[in-house]
Amino acid sequence: MSPVHHYKRAEKRFVARLLRFFSAIGDFLARFFGAIAGFFRQQVTVMLVPHSERNIFNFRISAFSMVVVIFLLVCMVLTFILYSTRFTGVSDLLTDKTQVLEQRDADLEVIRDQISDLLNTSRVFEESLHSTLDSLGLEKSNAEKKDWTSGAVGDDVAELAAMKGLLQDSLEYFDQIAKMLQAQQSLIVELPTIWPLRDVRGYVTSYFGPTTHPFTKHWYLHKGIDIAYSRGTKVVSTADGKVIEKAFDANGYGNYIVIKHKYGFYTRYAHMDKVYVKEGQNVQQGEVIGTLGNTGLSTGPHLHYEVRIGSQVVDPQRYLDFNSSKDF
Ligand SMILES: [Zn+2]
Repeated sequence: MSPVHHYKRAEKRFVARLLRFFSAIGDFLARFFGAIAGFFRQQVTVMLVPHSERNIFNFRISAFSMVVVIFLLVCMVLTFILYSTRFTGVSDLLTDKTQVLEQRDADLEVIRDQISDLLNTSRVFEESLHSTLDSLGLEKSNAEKKDWTSGAVGDDVAELAAMKGLLQDSLEYFDQIAKMLQAQQSLIVELPTIWPLRDVRGYVTSYFGPTTHPFTKHWYLHKGIDIAYSRGTKVVSTADGKVIEKAFDANGYGNYIVIKHKYGFYTRYAHMDKVYVKEGQNVQQGEVIGTLGNTGLSTGPHLHYEVRIGSQVVDPQRYLDFNSSKDF
């Protein structure tokens, strides 16, 4: 046998083996896919057997449909599990939020209580303010009463707004009250409202009004009050004013001065020992104008103090009582 011949035979054997190999693989694959196709083509009968006497329920289904149905079921179950997990998270979050909201609600309730208290206090304040304004004659005609009945949150807000308005109005009222008090303060200084002796009360030996004269023993009108005390006691002006008369009357007032005040008031200080002021001099309330004495028609050291409005003599104590805060 020639080497070439030998080679050809070997080649033929190899090719034949190779072909057998591939055909075997082809057979295998054909059988494999055939089996799968056969499986999918297979018909399955699903039978539901109830425990009662009712009819058996069955239906036929191909294996392929069965696989698809099982796949879909698995997908549904997985989806359900996934969503329920997420829902649990959402639910926890919701619980937290609900707790926060409940806390807020409780806080809001406390705040509403506080607002209610504040509004009640404000109402008391408003009533007090109105009565004060009434007594001072400052009540404004357009000051309408607010309705303070408490209700919903919207009402609370409206009431708070009303309260703000009230407080703003109050500022105006207090401004007026302050001005009035200032005016009264200056009125107190301008009217003869203080005791005419410095630091001592003395003894009132004769009041204003009809009485018997110490010398003639006849009834007459005593035009002032007599305050007895030791000679040299300081006499003060009972209001701001100007000295318009300074004289000596041996048969009556002795050393005396007359001071003119605002609003038509005049005061006279008589029987003085010494006089420290001159005619035309401006004096202030409480300023020392001289000393108590026994000059003129007098039975002992005393100050005769008179108050006049225009030409009309009035009881000095009406004005002295007005400012009785000073204790001797
Ligand atoms: Zn007198």
